Parts: sequence; C-alpha cells; structure tokens
Amino acid sequence: MLGRYAELKAQLPQGTILFYQVGTFFETFEEDAKTISRELSIRLTGREASGEGRVPLAGVPGHALQEHVAVLLRKGHSVAVAEQRPHPTKPKQFTREISRILTPGTVIEDNILSAGQANYLAAINVRDETAGVAIVEASTGEFTGTEVPEAHLSTELERWSPRELVVPERTAAEDLPKVRAAISPAPRWTFEPSAGEKALMRHFGVSSLKGFGLDGKLALVGAAGALIQYLASMRGGSPPEQVVNFRPYVPGSGMVLDSATRRNLGLDELIQTIDRTRTPIGQRALRRWLERPLLEADRVNQRLEAVDSLTGDYMLREEAREHLSCIPDIERIATRIVRLSVSPNDLISLRGALEALGPLKESLASAAQTSSLVERALAAMEEPPGVRELIAAAISEEEGEIIRAGYSRELDEAREFRDGAYNWLTRFETQERLKTGLKTLKVGYRDGEGYFIEVAGKETSSVPPRYEHRKALKHNARYVTVELKEHESRMLTARDEVERLERRILAEVRAAVKDAAPQLQKIARAVAVVDVIASFAAAAIELRYCRPAVMEERGIKIIAGRHPVVEHNTGTPFVPNDAHVSGDLRLQVITGPNMAGKSVYLRQVALIALLAQTGSYVPAEEATLGVVDRIFTRVGAEDRLASGESTFMVEMTEAASILNSATERSLVILDEVGRGTSTYDGMSLAWAIAEYLHDDVQALTLFATHYHELTRLAEILPGSRNHKATVEEIGGEIVFLHRIEEGAESSSYGVHVARLAGLPRQVTDRAGEILSRLESEGVKDFAG
Ligand code: ADP
Ligand code: MG
Repeated sequence: MLGRYAELKAQLPQGTILFYQVGTFFETFEEDAKTISRELSIRLTGREASGEGRVPLAGVPGHALQEHVAVLLRKGHSVAVAEQRPHPTKPKQFTREISRILTPGTVIEDNILSAGQANYLAAINVRDETAGVAIVEASTGEFTGTEVPEAHLSTELERWSPRELVVPERTAAEDLPKVRAAISPAPRWTFEPSAGEKALMRHFGVSSLKGFGLDGKLALVGAAGALIQYLASMRGGSPPEQVVNFRPYVPGSGMVLDSATRRNLGLDELIQTIDRTRTPIGQRALRRWLERPLLEADRVNQRLEAVDSLTGDYMLREEAREHLSCIPDIERIATRIVRLSVSPNDLISLRGALEALGPLKESLASAAQTSSLVERALAAMEEPPGVRELIAAAISEEEGEIIRAGYSRELDEAREFRDGAYNWLTRFETQERLKTGLKTLKVGYRDGEGYFIEVAGKETSSVPPRYEHRKALKHNARYVTVELKEHESRMLTARDEVERLERRILAEVRAAVKDAAPQLQKIARAVAVVDVIASFAAAAIELRYCRPAVMEERGIKIIAGRHPVVEHNTGTPFVPNDAHVSGDLRLQVITGPNMAGKSVYLRQVALIALLAQTGSYVPAEEATLGVVDRIFTRVGAEDRLASGESTFMVEMTEAASILNSATERSLVILDEVGRGTSTYDGMSLAWAIAEYLHDDVQALTLFATHYHELTRLAEILPGSRNHKATVEEIGGEIVFLHRIEEGAESSSYGVHVARLAGLPRQVTDRAGEILSRLESEGVKDFAG
C-alpha cells in the first residue's frame, strides 16, 4: 500500500500534504503525518512497513476531512486527497487516485473561505528588472495585474496580501519577494511570455490579446499566463471558467498600505467598528476599499457625494439596506454557475437576489439623481433575461426534491409511478395481515437489507411457508416473499429513474444559466458599491461622523477629531483633539508622559486621513484633507514587546523603508521610534530621522517621543512645532487630560511623578540635578 502512496506523492508539487483514503479514514504518512499532527493537534501514531521500520502515521475520519483541510489551507498548506475506488477488474480490491488538490489561493468552496475576505492568488514574473504581477480571486473570477520595477515588487504584492504566490520553480529563496504567503513553484516554461500568450488566448477564446491592455507587457503576460495554467493544473486540467476577463490596473492607482501600517492602525478593528454592510459582496468590498484608499480627490469626492445622497433620508436608506439583505453572495454563485457546479439552493437564492434588484433600484432612484456613482451602479444592475423565470419554473423549494412538479412531463410520470409503488406497499401490508392473520405483521425497510416483512417473536410459528426467513432478531423475525422482492426491484428502478431525471434536468438548467454569469458578476460589482456606500452612510449617522473636505492641496486640518475605535472603548468620555499639519508645519513632535494619549492621537489622525480617502465620513467635527500618497506608521520596538518582535533591527529596517519611499505628499506617523536601543543611540537616531523627514523628504510627519530633547528641533527647523499630551496634578494625583496642546512638556515631569509616588526627596532632587545637566550639555551637541 505504501508503494502506491509513494507513487501518488511523487506526482504532487513538493510540500503538498496527501490524504490517502483507507476505509473510512484518510491517512497521512511520514513528514505529512508529523505536519498534520502538529497543525491539527492530532495524535501521531506509527505502523510497521516492510523493510522501512516504523512509519509515522496520522489520520482523520472521513466525515471530519473537510474541516481539517480547511484549517490546513488557512494555515497556508496545500492539500491533495486520494480517494479509494473499487478496482475495475479485481473484486474486493481498491485503487486510489488523486481526486482533488486544494491550495490556499485556489479554493472556491464557501465553507472554507471566509465570506468577508477576498482570497487572492498571485503569480510573479521578473524580466529585465520589470516584474509582472498577476492576481486572481478564484472564487469570484476577479483577474487583474500590473507591471512594476522589480524593486517595487514586494510593495506591490503587499497591497493584495495574497494567500498563495506562484513563482517559477527553483527560484532562489533570496529572490522571493517579502510577503507572507504560501509559495507554490510552477514549471518555469509556463512563465514564458509566448506560452502565457497562448494560454490566455486559448482561455479567453480570442486570437489576439489586444483588447486586454497587455500590449508590450511581456512580464505581465508571462505572469498572467502562468496563473491561468496553474489554476487549470490544480483542477485536473480543467480551465478556470469563472475567470471571464482580465483588467490590468495602473500600479499608481490606489494607496499602498503596507502590512506594518495596517497592523499599527488596527484596520481589522476599524472595519469591525464601521462595517454596516448587508451582503458578503459588500463586506469584501469594504475591506478592499479600506486597504486601497483612493489617490485622486475627485474620485474620493464622487464617493463622498454618493454617501451624502444616502445620509439625509433615514427611511430611504433603511429600505435600500433591507433589499440588500436579500442579496446573497452572487459573486461566488456566479463562479459556481460557470463551473456548472451551482447547487439548487444557490439557484433559489439567486432568484431571490434577482427579485430584490427591482425594489433596490427603485429605492435608490432619488439618490441616483444626486450621485453619479449611484446612478452608474444602478445602470449596471441589469437583470439577465429569463434566468429568474427559469429558476422559478424548474427548481423546487420542497424538501427532498430538486425539480418542481409540472416542469417536466417525463419526470412527473416517473414520480407518479414511484409514488404508486409506495402506495402498493401499504396495500400489500394490509392484505398480508388479512391473509395470514398475523396481528404484528409490518413491512419495513433498511439500507443494505431492502424491504422485508417483520413479525413479532410470539407469532413466528404461524408464518406461512411462502415466507422466506431472512433474519432473526431479539423480539422479532424478518421475511421476504417473491412478490415483495419483485416489487422492490421495480420500486428501486422507479426511484433511480426519478433521480436520474432530476439530475439531467438540473444539468440542463445549469447549462441554460451559464451565459448569465458575466452579467451576474457585473451586478455583483454594482451591488458591492451600493452596499459599501449605504454602509458608510449608516455608520456616519450612527457614529456621528462628518463629511470631510478632500482636495489636492497638501495639508491636514482636523477639528475635534476622535479615534474611531478607541472612542468606544474608554471608560471616561473620549476627549476630541484638533490636528493641523501642512507644508509650513510639517513636523509635529509630541511629548508627554506614558498613558497621556500620544499614540491614540497619532493613530486618529492617520485613520481620519485613511477613512476620508476611502470615501467615508470621518470621526470629527470638521476635517479638511489634502490627499496623501501614502500613510506610513511605525511603532518603536518597546511599544511592541507584546507582539514578540522587539528587535531594534526590525525597527530600523522599517524606518529605512519609510525614509526611502516617503514623499512630500506622504503622511508619516512615528510612535516612539528609536526606543529599542540605549538612550543616546535611540535619541540620536530619532533626531536624525526627524531632521531628514523635515529637510529632505518634507513629508507631513507626526512624531511622538519620550526623548524630550527632540523638542529642541522646533528651535532649529522652521517647519517643526511641539505638541504635548497634557496632564494635571489634582490633589496629589496625576490626571491625564488626553488633550493635545501646542508646547513642550516640562522635562522634569518624570521626576515629578517619582516624587508623587513617594520616592525619597533626596533621590528625586538628585535626579533633577542630573537631568538638567544632561539636558543642557547633551543636547547642545545635538543642536550644534
Ligand atoms: P501614550 O501613547 O501617551 O502612552 P496612549 O495614547 O496609548 O498613551 O493612551 C493611553 C490610554 O489613554 C488609552 O488606552 C485610552 O484609554 C486613553 N486615551 C487616550 N487618548 C484619549 C482621549 N483622547 N480621550 C479619552 N481617553 C483617551
Ligand atoms: Mg504610546
């Protein structure tokens, strides 16, 4: 048996975990067994194999396979399943073939994917220092890509956070981009532009790629072609039919939020707070929008205008959202439609969705008059003709049947015959009871046994000889008769016939709706837009957000801004703060003791900018924002001790990437950077970084620091201002006011706290002396 296992394992890409069916179990061996026992907390056992000693083994029962596979995929593993089939010639023997290969980026099963998140699969191809990046979302058919200079490859991938990355086989580890994704090598030739061109032309059924905007983009053609070929190879060679179009994107479109920034800003928590979407499609789109804010003020304003069209009228908005609630995940249903694997339930919910479109459009008609974005979305919601009617006529909503009665004459007749056969059984039972006089006689059925006559033990001596004994149980016995057996076979045939016809008709319906898939994808995109806009509008009202003024001119001015997440989590009322950064006031140094509110303030400025450029209202009384090209946030190592990443190296690598990529249009948030090393090192680095950002990059920068010395920068740099997070001493206790004000915090502050805490006077006085000496001497060197 292990021989066959090894054969199958050799056919798989390296690292793929093979589940091998043995009876009702799916077993893994050797390295795979160790991996799954670790990842799934399953007991590792072993079995003796001839000549190989004891082989590690770990398995899962068949009914739990799906669940375990889902976990492995989420953890970035690829999985293959070899099912056992009866051997074609040798009775009682089995053969095993690989029936499925599942990888983190190619799954389309709903129960494995999370509804609110896109699952991207990427392929990269580098030619002459140009990198082609192709991206596909296998469950929705979204297919896109771009070309960037090789040096920008990692950044470009960051914006997609792919689950899986397809690369040419034998790519050296140091040539791999830095992304957290499962790496899947594919044959090198599939990345050749000529092979890619052929694969894409075949896939789209076209004789030239002209219409796809791929002209002269050899690296991209190679990457996109490799991706299509990879998807096909994962599905036993069948092409990914849900992918019906390729739309290249311009690399500069949409802001890149690197993963450190997404984490530091708490994007997941932000989404949890503001998400008011009503459909899974909208939920995914909301995340996509927030992860890629817009860069052009007029596009932002189009979205804001759309939100505006829905904030005014509560009834109208709620009515629209009510209709949205009836719309299931048509994006993923469309994918199953093209794969001809759409289920009857999918079809029923699709019908519901199509029925909801009309009322949805009606409820939004007045919003469409003031918002061109809403207007375009409504225009795109064009119902594919005939689909709804076909589903209504053909698909049954009754338990236990697929096709509705009255749709097919042939099926209705087969059902009638089958049901007649059931009635026959009841008649047969009554007749036999009469004929034999057996009071306890019953007709029953069991899988594997078929139909039988059951008689209680006390009456078994009176059964007629034409009853053939089959089985004796504790309290009764089972018999069959020739007549019953004959009927049984007629009945099974009738049942099979009904099933066969139902399957055939379902296949016909599937084929008939297949052409509607591109239209459904278009509807899905439009529904997503409307859903996100309505969600922004609902959140704006519920959370008391204001419409920001977004423009091209540089600068940020926020009146009474709040942190969208923290404002709901503080025990005391949240204290709003203003913020003002511009070309002339581009470096803000914020000092103040621990817990005074520095970090919250920094993040709220960044989050307000992010929300505004996504087209959302913002938590403030007033906000004016010039679009920023990127938001960078870095948090000093010590503030991250909890996440276990507290190395100074990480901190400096991240700082380097900011200094190298930020521009004067960027918003840079630095929180205690320079903390991960000794005081003087850290202070000097912080100083130099701030200076460089002010003088050379000229980015809009907020820098929170406990290095009080940095407040001297305001004296020497014209665009630098000091701010402090204020505290008050009330009755011998320190009270954090959480108010950010202009000015520098008194440097003796720490010493002051120590005194309040009860440190001997002698110690705090001495500390004060040392401090003032360090300050006057140490800092002079820096400033000079
Ligand atoms: P720092 O960075 O100065 O050490 P934080 O910004 O982390 O301080 O804030 C510490 C805590 O103070 C926060 O967890 C929050 O509970 C509270 N806080 C911060 N800012 C505000 C505010 N504006 N209003 C109310 N509470 C706040
Ligand atoms: Mg802090």
